[in-house]
Amino acid sequence: MSATANTSYTTFTGWVDPPTDIRPPLTENFTCSVAVIGGGLAGMATALRLAEHGVDAVLLESDFCGHGAGSRNAGQLASAPGGDIQLLDLLHRKRMPAIIQLTENAAGHVESLIERLGIDCDYEATGNVFAAVSRGQLGRTQRIAKILRRAGAQVEEGTARELGIPHGFLGGMREINGGIMNPGKLLRGLRGAVLASPVRVFEQSKVIDIVRDSGGVTVDTPGGMIRAQKVVLATNAYAGEWDITPKRLSSPMWVTEVETEPIAPERLAALGWTSRSGLITQHNIMENYRLTARDTIVFGVRQIECAASYPLPERHPDPAVVADLARAFARRFPTLADVSIDHAWGGWIGITSTWLPVAGTIGDNVYYSLACNGHGLAQATYVGSLIGDRIATGITPEDLRTIWVDEPKFGRTVPMITGRLGLRAAWTADRFNDMINGSKHHARKGFAATPPGRTAPV
Ligand SMILES: Cc1cc2nc3c(=O)[nH]c(=O)nc-3n(C[C@H](O)[C@H](O)[C@H](O)COP(=O)(O)OP(=O)(O)OC[C@H]3O[C@@H](n4cnc5c(N)ncnc54)[C@H](O)[C@@H]3O)c2cc1C
Repeated sequence: MSATANTSYTTFTGWVDPPTDIRPPLTENFTCSVAVIGGGLAGMATALRLAEHGVDAVLLESDFCGHGAGSRNAGQLASAPGGDIQLLDLLHRKRMPAIIQLTENAAGHVESLIERLGIDCDYEATGNVFAAVSRGQLGRTQRIAKILRRAGAQVEEGTARELGIPHGFLGGMREINGGIMNPGKLLRGLRGAVLASPVRVFEQSKVIDIVRDSGGVTVDTPGGMIRAQKVVLATNAYAGEWDITPKRLSSPMWVTEVETEPIAPERLAALGWTSRSGLITQHNIMENYRLTARDTIVFGVRQIECAASYPLPERHPDPAVVADLARAFARRFPTLADVSIDHAWGGWIGITSTWLPVAGTIGDNVYYSLACNGHGLAQATYVGSLIGDRIATGITPEDLRTIWVDEPKFGRTVPMITGRLGLRAAWTADRFNDMINGSKHHARKGFAATPPGRTAPV
């Protein structure tokens, strides 16, 4: 039987169920100081911070808070920047120390938030490893480690045994700060904190238009309008749905995660994954793997799908992508090749052209924040909170200055330039390299052949 024969597909996330107490939509018109749009990590962090400063804030969310990428991600809290770090260093060498300060502070901020709000999200401070599956990838992790260390990041290098990662990987580099969690539980906890705060929350309230003038901003939803002195756009991949959004702020991309069935503890122990660190491979399009508190492995990405146009559709993962991920799992974890994929989900993320989180203003009363490139769990939350500080105090915190854009003009993102064909070519190059390196590696390690009843991984 194939690993995906009994996989269930969801349009939400595999981590948690949707809330049962969804708040009613906006049904009237009123005024407030700040309207925050989007109840994800960024929006909820901003709204909470504003409330802590005593600012009168409203939060508008199209579905329910936690409906977006925040609840759907792999739960790997990163302390390094996302995207291609070598390219980042090439483009922003002088800014790298400030960027690293921001990304490391972001991970620390989320850890303190979890503690301060008492959120049970199975957080483990394991760090995350840039894990190599080939000699070429190992060289890449060494170059990245050098860049990060020079910029002040806390990283360590080693073999698989030294890093306590599974025998199917060669070794790599660990970002020491950060870890793994159940992100669905984090968002549920944040939602609880926002609902318990003075913030007025309207769920099922999709913002359809935003119009600014010198006196303030009007935010339109199907059931009512809000007139605010300031507005924060925190809708991540969905930001491009309005005319007011800076042109080419980001490109929406769909990525997929899956979770295995529960695996016997002795089989997990035999992997040698003693550090429990989350893993990110160094392919053109990465694979991520991580253990969970429920004795499963969550893994994903390997393929990126572009959005055809706005509005972004509510969708399931593509079964062909899930089957491709199952093949990857069988290759990286040959002793678990008989383990089935229990469920699959995915989400939209916004990729920026700078490979960095971005934040800034449109005029003096509309703020936007997009902290993504696959690392928003830490960065979207932190940047959202810093925007709350800036609005409340008028002072731009140092870490926010690192990514601040006053007059937004953005270039095209790499996937926008290369398009579907480019993404397919990147995937094909990854598989070609896997084929060459995998056969060498498997021969060296003496791994068993594909178990009976399973298709050989490509
Ligand atoms: C499958 C997957 C795996 C990932 N893995 C990781 C990982 O391991 N580590 C990591 O750091 N990051 C990861 N990410 C990225 C991370 O999840 C995002 O960067 C982060 O969630 C962005 O937070 P956000 O608050 O900006 O956006 P979101 O969490 O997407 O929230 C945006 C919110 O805005 C709402 N909204 C949209 N349009 C409107 C509208 N018109 N009106 C009102 N509300 C609206 C949405 O419903 C949503 O609730 C992953 C993402 C995905 C999809």
